[in-house]
Order: sequence, then structure tokens, then C-alpha cells
Amino acid sequence: MPAFLLRVLDMTEPNPCLECGICCTHFRISFYWAEADDAPGGFVPAHMTEKLNHHMRCMKGSNQMPRRCSALEGVIGEAVSCSIYENRPTPCREFPVFFADGTPNPKCDELRALIGLPAIEPWILPTAA
Ligand code: SF4
Ligand code: SF4
Repeated sequence: MPAFLLRVLDMTEPNPCLECGICCTHFRISFYWAEADDAPGGFVPAHMTEKLNHHMRCMKGSNQMPRRCSALEGVIGEAVSCSIYENRPTPCREFPVFFADGTPNPKCDELRALIGLPAIEPWILPTAA
């Protein structure tokens, strides 16, 4: 049995993202323009976005160097949070720490290594007794 299967997800464990945040300074966070809240049904605060083209917007701060999404608060690699977490755009929701089978996202570990953070340990969901 691979070692990672011995570790069971403990929901009391801290969220690894809260000491990281590196992905919020690495990618241009671009998404369909209508996700912003100046469009019907949009939810991302429009004032925190900028126009890329007729179809796409991005988070301010993520389309420049050095890159850092304007919604990110705190110190990378120490303590961070997303000031619009409930209304973050799609790409932020689609970059997983874990895949469905419990294995960590290798790109996530790669980014964490850039700031000296350890790789994330895999988990499995507890099975019913
Ligand atoms: S790189 Fe991974 S651990 Fe770090 S903030 Fe992004 S998703 Fe979370
Ligand atoms: S919107 Fe939030 S989760 Fe997405 S890149 Fe910005 S700070 Fe990170």
C-alpha cells in the first residue's frame, strides 16, 4: 500500500493555502468578462478587474510584473487570505490543492517549493465504519 493511503483527511488540519498564496502571484487570473459583477449574474467585484479584450477580464495586479492579484492580502509564504474568497473568479476555483483521488496537484507543490514550503501530503477520505 502506498504510504499516502495511510494518511486520512483530518478536517481540522489547517488549510495549506493560508500559509502559501504563491499561485495568486504566479498566474494571470483571466476569466470570461461576465463573471464580474457589472454584468447580470456576475459576482467578481468589477472594480478589482481589468479588461483584456472583448471577451476576457483579469484580476488587477495579475497582468503585470511583479505579479500579485490585488485581492490577495497578507505575506506570501507566511499568512495570506483572499479578500474576495466567496466571489473569486473561476480560475481560482479550478486550481486544486488535491485532485479527486486525494493526490496533490504537482503544480501546486512546484509553486510552493519556490517559496520554501513543503510539498502537500496526500489524503484519502475516511471510509464508513
Ligand atoms: S499554490 Fe497550492 S497551496 Fe499554495 S495557495 Fe495555491 S492552491 Fe494553495
Ligand atoms: S481572487 Fe483570490 S484566490 Fe484568486 S488569485 Fe486573487 S487572491 Fe488568489
